[in-house]
Amino acid sequence: MREHFAIAIDGPSGAGKSSLAQRCAEAYGIIYVDTGAIYRTVGLAAYRQGIDRKDEAAVSAILPQLRIEMRYDESGEQRMYLNGEDVSRDIRMPEISICASDVSALPSVRSYLLEMQRQLARENNVIMDGRDIGTVVLPDAQLKIFLTASAQARAERRMKQLAEKGVAADFEEVLRDIQYRDAQDSGRKTAPLKPADDAVYLDTTEIDFEASFAKMCQIIHEHLGIELPEAQS
Ligand code: C5P
Repeated sequence: MREHFAIAIDGPSGAGKSSLAQRCAEAYGIIYVDTGAIYRTVGLAAYRQGIDRKDEAAVSAILPQLRIEMRYDESGEQRMYLNGEDVSRDIRMPEISICASDVSALPSVRSYLLEMQRQLARENNVIMDGRDIGTVVLPDAQLKIFLTASAQARAERRMKQLAEKGVAADFEEVLRDIQYRDAQDSGRKTAPLKPADDAVYLDTTEIDFEASFAKMCQIIHEHLGIELPEAQS
């Protein structure tokens, strides 16, 4: 295996970044970092404190009081802690998705979380997903993938994911959330969602999870020269 490397995955909400990155991390024995969960934790804190999530001064003021930790449980799943409380489930609520998108548009929030993300990549071989990983967080990543799919397909997948987690949701609302976040994440001034110049595109609208995973493995092989370990292929 290569000595030290990072795989950056960027793309809009619900494109399948998390599930694919998680599966790759397991298959290749590397660490998966879900950076959206970190923004969600800040969004949850702002929501709980009832502050205006678009007010930069108000959100910046609470940042120093937040102890945000990322831990991995026995099954390798990333869990988020806010001031010692496991908030992994709370951060997945649909209203927190919007809060995360709101606070993530603030430059002070982004710079506050930047070092935490880079440190994880310095210490581990990572597959890290988000919106600006290939462009801002890890511009020297050895492989950058831009993962996308149509808004309709992404909303359908999000519904399924939420149902599996026991969270009830309305399709039209989920689709609206996705469209709101697409517009806000791509349109913001700081670190907008966009593919890095050297990113490899992967559109999963027409292909299922297994086919997307196979395609990812092929891209990893072509670009990093890493074979999928025997037991996983
Ligand atoms: O990936 P996920 O949908 O969980 O992310 C929640 C929100 O956090 C996104 O809509 C986006 O606004 C923000 N985010 C970001 N940069 C990242 C990861 C997530 O702005 N690297």
